[in-house]
Amino acid sequence: MTKTHVFMSSLWRLIYWYVPCLLLGVIIEQVAWCLFAAALCHLIWLYRSQYVLHQWLWFARSATPPEGKGSWESIFNGIYRLQRRHKRKRKELRTVIRRFREGAEAMPDAVVALDTDYSIVWCNKLAPQLIGLKWPDDAGQHIGNLIRTPDFIQYLNGKDYQLPLEITSPIHNAKTLEIRLMTYTDDQAMLVARDVTELRQLEQVRRNFMGNVSHELRTPLTVLKGYLEMLEPDDSDKMFARAHKVMSEQTARMDALVNQLLALSRIEAAQDVDFEMEVDIPFMLSMLEQEVQILAADKNLKVSFDIAEGLFAFGDESQLRSAVSNLIYNAARYTPDDGSIFVTWQQTYAGGHFSVKDTGDGISVEHLHHLTERFYRVDDARSRDSGGSGIGLSIVKHVLSNHDSVLEVTSEVNKGSCFSFVLAQVKTVKRL
Ligand code: ADP
Repeated sequence: MTKTHVFMSSLWRLIYWYVPCLLLGVIIEQVAWCLFAAALCHLIWLYRSQYVLHQWLWFARSATPPEGKGSWESIFNGIYRLQRRHKRKRKELRTVIRRFREGAEAMPDAVVALDTDYSIVWCNKLAPQLIGLKWPDDAGQHIGNLIRTPDFIQYLNGKDYQLPLEITSPIHNAKTLEIRLMTYTDDQAMLVARDVTELRQLEQVRRNFMGNVSHELRTPLTVLKGYLEMLEPDDSDKMFARAHKVMSEQTARMDALVNQLLALSRIEAAQDVDFEMEVDIPFMLSMLEQEVQILAADKNLKVSFDIAEGLFAFGDESQLRSAVSNLIYNAARYTPDDGSIFVTWQQTYAGGHFSVKDTGDGISVEHLHHLTERFYRVDDARSRDSGGSGIGLSIVKHVLSNHDSVLEVTSEVNKGSCFSFVLAQVKTVKRL
């Protein structure tokens, strides 16, 4: 039914009612009375229809609209259509909510839907088991009242939910949970808690294994090294002299590998870094500059250091020395003769910025993401020749992660590489 059609039919209905009344009034010479009577009847009919509509809307059990006459018929039918549409929409919405809940129930993680003020709106069946939430008793409670660990409260208030948070389960001390918070509309958030206890235990077992194996290899290696040092090769026995040389080289390589593995497991097992400790990075770098010059002289490398005077960092000195020396020695090892290395440590708006640039062979893009994996080497032969084991950059990655930083690498094949990182916690000390 179009708008004009509705208007015209209402108009015709009025004409059909008032024109005969008017004619009757003319005939009996009582036009005013006839029109008055017609208007009164019209008004009574309107009130009656309005009453029927009211009764139907508020008291009728049936959804079917009452019989209406004239324009009221289309009003009743219109309301009935609207009601049916709403009913259909409500049904669709209920289905969507049911599906969402069934999906959330099927997840192997605890899921809690939160409101703007972080009060609990809904949770799945795993939430009581992992977080200790009581449903439905805890509906409307602030999530911070249930997970009370300071780390979680800080995470909640920090509003930066890009990275997950690991906490001990509030109801099982032995369980480790990985918490993720996702905001999905302006005023809704979803908390997902995953049990990562087994994963962390496996990582611990792997770490212990690496540490134990490296430790156990130390004693036999020391014995071998000792005997090799004692045995002086005799020039007349060429075969023995060659074997002695190879054995000495390989034991030295193995010794370096074991030391690196031990360093890595020590850094991985290290408790939280004490950020109260000051580290004199300029002094550390001046020492390393002297050491690396020896290696550089053999290859005729040009080494330059640009160090901000008195720029101290906060953190673990031995870990930072390990990271910085690995990067500088890598640059010296992977830069061919007559190349150059440029080391900087400068204050920037983000903190202390350390970088090592070299004019070495460079690394192609596909390797860049794997560089910090343990035992990863871009070119096995080249790395082995230079005494590499593929552990150095893993150490760097862990040290930086312990210091809330990350390693940035840019490189171009045959042009060179740049390894850098930023330490946010620094201070400048005036030297007397
Ligand atoms: P490695 O002990 O083998 O040097 P790292 O973990 O320190 O182990 O480095 C991993 C790999 O990254 C190396 O094998 C090497 O191929 C590559 N690499 C590291 N630093 C550089 C660099 N400055 N220039 C070119 N390649 C590099």
